[in-house]
Amino acid sequence: MKITDLKCAIIASSPVIRMTTDEGITGWSQIETPKPYLQPMVLQLRDWLIGQDPRDVERVVRRIRVRGGFKPFGSAVSAIEHALWDIAGKAAGIPVYRLLGGKVRDQVRTYRTLYQAEVPGGADHTPAGYRRWADYGKSLDGGFRMFKLPTAFHSSMVQDFPNFFYGDVQRDAPFPYPHKGVMTKEGMDHLVACITAARETLGEGYNTAVDAGPGFMPLDVLRLAKAVEHLHLLWIEDTVTGDYSPYVNHDLYKDITFNTTTPIHTGEQIYLRQNYKHLIESHAVNVIGPDPCDVGGLGEMKWIAEHADLHGIAIAPHGTANGILGLAALIQVSAALPDNFIAFEYPARFEPFWYDITEGFDGFPVKDGMIDVPDRPGMGVVMNPKAARKHLTDGDSGFFD
Ligand SMILES: [Mg+2]
Repeated sequence: MKITDLKCAIIASSPVIRMTTDEGITGWSQIETPKPYLQPMVLQLRDWLIGQDPRDVERVVRRIRVRGGFKPFGSAVSAIEHALWDIAGKAAGIPVYRLLGGKVRDQVRTYRTLYQAEVPGGADHTPAGYRRWADYGKSLDGGFRMFKLPTAFHSSMVQDFPNFFYGDVQRDAPFPYPHKGVMTKEGMDHLVACITAARETLGEGYNTAVDAGPGFMPLDVLRLAKAVEHLHLLWIEDTVTGDYSPYVNHDLYKDITFNTTTPIHTGEQIYLRQNYKHLIESHAVNVIGPDPCDVGGLGEMKWIAEHADLHGIAIAPHGTANGILGLAALIQVSAALPDNFIAFEYPARFEPFWYDITEGFDGFPVKDGMIDVPDRPGMGVVMNPKAARKHLTDGDSGFFD
């Protein structure tokens, strides 16, 4: 079997990849919804792929792996890797999880990040706002039991709460999460009060993580982590580095992690196993959060998860913007991860019309916070060209041809 073409179209701002073969099998995958600017990065890899056998996933990815980097530049390689698995699974007539070693679980647990803007009436960065936020999460379809709240340097709390920290407040920064600095006592007390309000409102049977940075100084993370130890949070995510930081700084995390029982988490921006090596082997965090659409793909994710498990570190894959095809990939890989798997982040940021332009999901798939692992060949979800064609823009009109 040979790859005959690689195309990438932007559908509702989300890059969708179509890989074709000389045996009529098509591979589909998707890049995070806010990254339409990566379309040329996918297409510049096309010539390295034509003529290769897509079933030899690792052999093909080795040709392009050096052309990726930390988030957002790992996406093109990662999504191409997903399309290869999709084809390999379909060619063998088996789901991708079988090619990754077989499933460890029949259902995968998923957690839901709660965005401030989606809460009816708003959820401001006050204890009362965090109570509304928690109530909103419990009211959502799907019966989610685990949530994540963007807060502190990972939110507008920095701008909304006066004197949150000693740095400059920016209001028109071109990049996400531009703030960094030492927190004031008032800022720390307010942050702890907000997190406490959310956790208490969630009550028994539910829990939450907080996505808090990057932007913290390490001592402030430790102060926060110790102040909320009794709340038994799922984790505190991306504090000193993370999200779009193009580096790890594992040694700073280690100083925090070794001095608190609150789980410390990072990793959504990290590309490749090599860049997880020091983080894992030094036990610098308790939980890692690689994103299969950024880390280099499902094979990379599986390897990192096993390495983390050997070192007593849990894994909670990131995926909030991975779209419907990214959801399919998250389910396949999460089914095959070892016992350190907690839950993956549900890609909440796609519109319901995606169910109409794809085949595979019979509507919203989450029940009691869990998703059944499908047995369809490949990733289990494919584009429906007839239904999706009307969403193509003029420049991509030949995508399905
Ligand atoms: Mg995050």
